[in-house]
Amino acid sequence: MANLLSIINPATEALIQEMPVDDKAAVAEKYARARAAQPGWAALPLADRIKPILRFRELLVERVDALAALLTSETGKPITQARNEILAVPGRIDFFVENADRVLSLERVYAEPAGALPGMGSLEEVIGHDPLGVIANISAWNYPYFVGGNVFIPALLMGNAVLYKPSEFATLTGGAIADLLHASGIPQDIFIPVIGSGLTGAALLEQPIDGVFFTGSYATGQKIAIATAPKLIRTQLELGGKDPAYVCADANGAVAAAALADGAFYNNGQSCCAVERIYVHTEVYDEFFEAFLATVRGFKLGDPTDSDTYLGPVSRKPQLSVLAEQVTDALAKGATLCCGGQTLDRPGWYFAPTVLTEVNHTMTVMQEETFGPVIGIQRVASDAEAVALMQDTPYGLTAAVYGTERDRAVDILRQIKTGSAYWNCCDRVSPRLPWSGRGHSGLGTTLSQAGLYTFLQPRAWHLRAG
Ligand code: NDP
Repeated sequence: MANLLSIINPATEALIQEMPVDDKAAVAEKYARARAAQPGWAALPLADRIKPILRFRELLVERVDALAALLTSETGKPITQARNEILAVPGRIDFFVENADRVLSLERVYAEPAGALPGMGSLEEVIGHDPLGVIANISAWNYPYFVGGNVFIPALLMGNAVLYKPSEFATLTGGAIADLLHASGIPQDIFIPVIGSGLTGAALLEQPIDGVFFTGSYATGQKIAIATAPKLIRTQLELGGKDPAYVCADANGAVAAAALADGAFYNNGQSCCAVERIYVHTEVYDEFFEAFLATVRGFKLGDPTDSDTYLGPVSRKPQLSVLAEQVTDALAKGATLCCGGQTLDRPGWYFAPTVLTEVNHTMTVMQEETFGPVIGIQRVASDAEAVALMQDTPYGLTAAVYGTERDRAVDILRQIKTGSAYWNCCDRVSPRLPWSGRGHSGLGTTLSQAGLYTFLQPRAWHLRAG
């Protein structure tokens, strides 16, 4: 009998559905189908690959209510944030579609007339690009439309076949994405969902795939890098973060507080680029802290299907213990608990929004990824102290500086090892800019033109007339 995956609603703890899991044989069969179909897909004119992607774009908007409800049911993401996520995908599709032709066009970089070398015909040097082939897209549950779409949309446009393994915590959404792509005209064998847990993901990596595009934790990213190393294939890892924000002495404390509270608590802190550590210059600390706490106290926590809810349950039950352990560790080492600090006595995996002050870098809450509604705020006496603390992490996904002087902020951010640098903004992703991490935050780039080239391999054409 097939193994079954239980899909649980994090807000009610009710079983939504059980789904059969793909075993190794099923994964191998899906791989074989993708391998057979991919050359035909790559040979189509680009316009024929763009057409179904644009239809997918339309269907996302038409069906946003049902898709958002499904996402909310299995991840606990508040319905308004689920809608926001889905409705931001069209902007990314537009960027990819607008740039696909330029990236795929042949580029003549050198020409030599006939006779330049005695007796030889003319020479052209041309750069072309080929798709990678069959790629695995192993995705996370926290933003399935974003993190999946950043991979499968450009990968399909560039002519690849995609074996898509949604997280086991976003399996229904993964299935809905596959249904929508197929209804839009993407062939069944070109985008194939692979259903299961990490074991299924590992089975996928055993196939002779041509690339793996993974979004998830550093721990799993390491396992993927080890598993794929002997294959010498394109391996892209979008991993976690411990993203810092610094509020300079000249910042507007109240404005920075409202923005950073949202950056820390949006999607219940379960964003790769959530603000995870805040450093505040002592001159603006009191104003900032008061406004921050007031903002957090004003967040509406509750039923994620209610459109006013800002904080729902966390998506995975084991995360509740991680959050509780970070709070206990911080309090044992001298932190002050300003609000929250515990799970809520109600059905569902709810953790109260938690603000800790008097924190320092001996505490796990300032060192390890929290990935939940818990934030530490540390007072600093100078920009130099802030830079040293911001840099004290093996991660490097994003960093933010709030203050009125652009030059000062840029100077601080230049000193930080980070893939994205924000001045007076945070927790922000743009399709036009590269998304990448440093250190434990990963390898490779999605979005921007680099996020199209990553699904291609260059070919050097040396063309001499006979
Ligand atoms: P995990 O690392 O737990 O899982 C990620 C994916 O890998 C899931 O599909 C998982 O399957 C699968 N997987 C687990 N074990 C293996 C294995 N041995 N071989 C192959 N696949 C495997 O991460 P989460 O899903 O919990 O995602 C949260 C993490 O993702 C956070 O660290 C977050 O910061 C990061 N993230 C990074 C982003 C970025 O852009 N840098 C964006 C979004 C999230 P299953 O879930 O079924 O076990």
